[in-house]
Amino acid sequence: MEVVSLIRENERARLVLSREDKPVNVLDEICLDQLEACLDQLEADPPRVLVLESAMPGCFVAGADVDAIAGIRDAVVATRLAERGQALCRRLEVLPSVSVAVVRGSCMGGGLELALACDHLLAVEDKKTRLALPEIRLGIHPGFGGCVRLPKRVGWVRAVDMILGGSSVDARRAARIGLADLTAPPERIADAVDWLAARGKAQRGRAGPWWLYLPFVRWWFFREVERKAAARFRHLDLDQAYPAIPATVKLLKEIVGLSDGVAYAREAESLGRLVITPTCKNLIRVFHLGQSLKRQDAVKRGRARADEIRRTAVFGAGVMGSGIAWVAAGTTDVDLHDITPEALERGMQALGRLARRDPKRLRRIRPALDDSNLGRADVVIEAVVEELDAKRALWKEVEAKVSGDCLLLTNTSSLSVTAMQQQARVPGRMAGLHFFNPAPKMPLVEVISGEQTSGDVIDAVAALAVAWGKYPVVVQDRPGFLVNRCLMPYMVAALRLLEGGQKPTHVDGALKHYGMPMGAIELADKVGLDICHHVGAHLAEAFGERFAMPAWFGGLVDAGLLGEKRGKGFYLWPDGRRGEVNPELHRFLKLPEQPEGDAAAAVHEVPAMSDEEIRDACLVPMLVEALRCLDEALVESAVHVDAAMIFGIGFPPFRGGLLRDFAQRDREGLIALIDRLGLEVPANIGVLDDFA
Ligand code: NAD
Repeated sequence: MEVVSLIRENERARLVLSREDKPVNVLDEICLDQLEACLDQLEADPPRVLVLESAMPGCFVAGADVDAIAGIRDAVVATRLAERGQALCRRLEVLPSVSVAVVRGSCMGGGLELALACDHLLAVEDKKTRLALPEIRLGIHPGFGGCVRLPKRVGWVRAVDMILGGSSVDARRAARIGLADLTAPPERIADAVDWLAARGKAQRGRAGPWWLYLPFVRWWFFREVERKAAARFRHLDLDQAYPAIPATVKLLKEIVGLSDGVAYAREAESLGRLVITPTCKNLIRVFHLGQSLKRQDAVKRGRARADEIRRTAVFGAGVMGSGIAWVAAGTTDVDLHDITPEALERGMQALGRLARRDPKRLRRIRPALDDSNLGRADVVIEAVVEELDAKRALWKEVEAKVSGDCLLLTNTSSLSVTAMQQQARVPGRMAGLHFFNPAPKMPLVEVISGEQTSGDVIDAVAALAVAWGKYPVVVQDRPGFLVNRCLMPYMVAALRLLEGGQKPTHVDGALKHYGMPMGAIELADKVGLDICHHVGAHLAEAFGERFAMPAWFGGLVDAGLLGEKRGKGFYLWPDGRRGEVNPELHRFLKLPEQPEGDAAAAVHEVPAMSDEEIRDACLVPMLVEALRCLDEALVESAVHVDAAMIFGIGFPPFRGGLLRDFAQRDREGLIALIDRLGLEVPANIGVLDDFA
């Protein structure tokens, strides 16, 4: 199979990457072999100009082969692989030919490193052109010389930022920061290549700025970089959770001022050490989880229909509706409806804040108090108040006005889609599309199939979600769907720990040390205690006592301690930030050893549990519930559970997933633990075998 072709045209040669066996170009074994063979020929008979390009639409090179990286268990093997890539890039760089990389589509990781080894980089103006060194997201850093070459183009400050952040830039920005030498629209590529080729071979000196070469300044600069990186994960031991971050800072600091050869050697060695860490393997797994959701069969089947969706109507301009309008405006025109001008105004203001980053998108959203456009909508999403009657009344009105094949989606977080369908004229086109708050940011959506939802509709909705940049998990219509159902026992368990005398800060701290983005108690405050109470009651009714909120919790709700939105719940929330534990808490939490009326003393008459005990007490109920969901075939595949927890509630990616993390425990010990916590051991616990 030919994946790299060398085409000679007079004094020019084109090195074209393209493959039939994969959706994108990757630098895997076969590609590296063929690139090396082409370089042999180029060295033997160098053309005047060499153009490096891709024949795949939308993709220059997506990067190195992640599966190969996932399979490496020996640091030396990884170092050798990096050295091989480095040597290849070096050979390309020192060819006597003037080389031009024509970057159109995604140019990631090893692909960008290859382009950086060319004399000139032409970034083609195309919506799909994105350039990045995203290795850090896989728990490693660039290894084909990118840590050395990128600073020479964009300077150390920006290079450090790009390598540690892993973020991408488009063609225009690439040119602005010096990463690309030129941008051109697709129809001017040939002229642009001529112009760049006429500039001859590039001479690149030392990377700037000069002050970074002063030892003290360098020390200070990298200390700040490390401090900032660590601040994002301040509850974690970075060396254990995300070792690539400190290792990359260390590497970059070390190689400032070193000769290229020595710097490459350091890069390869450091990469070798990172490739074998469990974090790297787990992050690659998370990458695959995302891919498996984006490429699931439902998405493939629904793509054609989703592509035809041009106009969305969103009902409810509140917290969720405005966020959903923003998401939908990524690919469609949007009418945002509400019942009062004031509510619409609030929604548009919220959108205005989002639009600072992307003003064009806002122009696609039209506030609407009338239904004049409804007949043209291809999809309607409702995000009005969480009351079945209100939603049914809305659907009745909407159904009378929309076209026959318009999709009707509800963003309900707890009501039954099936119940809404019972009143619908055409129930088959109704489904749930459950976004998480904040909708523009949270990557997961649950696509809910009501009893009468047709398969085509589920497929189209899943594909639409992917077009909107989300990861869809298809779930059956049962109370709590998947994510809230698994989250609730975790939250209830944390509340029980408070009841047992543990401090909220202690419980939250232990969960954050494990890697959760926030503790379960803080989360309750964020969501709103009234909402948690409502969801708990709803799930308890459906599934029994394990979801029941402790009685004292209702007391907090009745007293108006609803969490962040009211300024106090378990914690005080001055200026929207979490403050101290709310001193009123002792009125509700009757701790056995607690002296009457003294909140401060309430906190620790009972011995503090260890982090590990707290973590087990909260996460094991989540695991058990997830296994029950699988047993009920609530989701299509066990892998989707791990994906949903990571993309929906921020389960720590470096742990690879909920099932994955527990699968690595000794099975006997886990069963004993489940039993000790008073839970029923799920009959399907063997599912974990597939995740070890
Ligand atoms: P919200 O109270 O912020 O907004 C609801 C909006 O709907 C209000 O502006 C109201 O005026 C409007 N509205 C009411 N009836 C309407 C009608 N007939 N037509 C048009 N607009 C109407 O509520 P929210 O938090 O955005 O929640 C909306 C829905 O999303 C609920 O079903 C909720 O369960 C669900 N949800 C909420 C969250 C969350 O975290 N807030 C998360 C996921 C799902």
